[in-house]
Amino acid sequence: MKKKTYIPTSGLRVDDPITDRFGRAFNYLRIAVNEYCNLRCIYCMPEEGVPFQAKDSLLGKNEICKVIKIMSELGVSKIRFTGGEPLLRKDLLDLIQYTYQKTNISSIHLTTNGVLLSKYINPLVKIGLEGVNISLDTLEKEKFQKITRREGLDRVLEGLYLAISTGIKSIKVNVVAMKDFNDDEIIDFVELTRVNDITIRFIELMPFDSHQIWKTGKFYRAEQIVNDLKSHYNTLKPIIGSSTEHYIFKIDNYKGRVAVIPSYTRSLCGACNRMRITADGNLLNCLYSQSETNIRDAIRNGISDSGIKELIRGAMQKKLKDGWIAQNQGKDSRESMTQIGG
Ligand code: SAM
Repeated sequence: MKKKTYIPTSGLRVDDPITDRFGRAFNYLRIAVNEYCNLRCIYCMPEEGVPFQAKDSLLGKNEICKVIKIMSELGVSKIRFTGGEPLLRKDLLDLIQYTYQKTNISSIHLTTNGVLLSKYINPLVKIGLEGVNISLDTLEKEKFQKITRREGLDRVLEGLYLAISTGIKSIKVNVVAMKDFNDDEIIDFVELTRVNDITIRFIELMPFDSHQIWKTGKFYRAEQIVNDLKSHYNTLKPIIGSSTEHYIFKIDNYKGRVAVIPSYTRSLCGACNRMRITADGNLLNCLYSQSETNIRDAIRNGISDSGIKELIRGAMQKKLKDGWIAQNQGKDSRESMTQIGG
């Protein structure tokens, strides 16, 4: 008989952890709750958007709750709500409240572009949100308009500062770093960590965009970013960060941290602990995976919870050794990161 673990505090049962053939264990779920976004970042979506799916193709509230419950029973302890823009989903607070109150998942996070954050951050923290990642690529108004094709820098900054004032445990600002675009702003971003206990994370551009800005020479390699940071700050000290924060530093007497994420160069696949569910209910065992496992249809076809668990375990067993091998399996089926959630 299979060994079961019991969590004494809640009495909720946790099955054996999800693992793969390479000994990795998966306890972190990123779930996209929609595809639509109120920005049109040039590296992510064309101005006219991507072909957004009909609402009934996307997971409904009860279906998302079911996925979260099943994942919790499979040992997931950390979840990130993403999208699209998750704050556009009207029942997001219900989903977070459900996760906090009804599952074993203790670490609940949100990734947002921040435009609507000031409206929601207080209630979100109240119902159990532990961390927020805000995507922000520039601190300059004109450039913001150029990158996102929308107005809104003031609102994002208002959301960021309000989030800081709530005392939420973790605030990260994700900056997609691009040459000849915002590489002249990396020091301005780092300076935000002088008095704020936040992490600024520079992220490599990835080839997930229908415009293929990717091919236009804007790629700014993680090592180069690190070198540029080091040449400016001679008190940059390496510290320990999360599993993707391959390079993470603190500057003497600064409150926050600075990280560089090699999301394209992919030096961290060996430590991967993530599973991704798209808004239309497909499980991706790797960000670069070319194949998906349809959890939505399994739910809609009345497959039992234990059947869905086996589906999830099976999909993770098929995970390839790293993202390079995964990417080389075929053609991208997703046009934009807005369909995956990052
Ligand atoms: N709307 C939310 C937001 O802006 O954070 C969540 C979804 S968005 C797709 C998640 C993250 O993916 C954002 O930080 C965005 O900058 C990043 N992203 C989108 N396309 C990307 C690309 N081609 N390369 C690197 N990061 C990308």
